[in-house]
Amino acid sequence: MVAGRAHDEMFSRALATFRSMFEGEKGQAWIKRCVRRLSSVRRLSVSPIMEFWVVKGDPSLGDRRRTYIVTYDKKRRTYTCSCYEVIRKYSSWRRRRTCTHVGAVILYKLINREG
Ligand SMILES: [Zn+2]
Repeated sequence: MVAGRAHDEMFSRALATFRSMFEGEKGQAWIKRCVRRLSSVRRLSVSPIMEFWVVKGDPSLGDRRRTYIVTYDKKRRTYTCSCYEVIRKYSSWRRRRTCTHVGAVILYKLINREG
């Protein structure tokens, strides 16, 4: 972790990148929800083909479960969250379906320069 101003700049830059990734697809409210989830993002495990992340459920953000598992398939470059009721294994990733758990993981990775 970098303290103070340098850290703020890293965060601002990551947030700007994050916004541009979802420009025209996600609004300010969605971005804000992802930022609020940041502190509860934890990396579970990483293998050469998969990443597993856990995001804590937050009732104030409408979560019903205590935890959500976000999986990243490195080969397909697709994210899946345990909050998705139906996981269509072979369908392509659609950003408009991206939940804020996945959004929080993407933002976390941008800030920490992971992945
Ligand atoms: Zn989710």
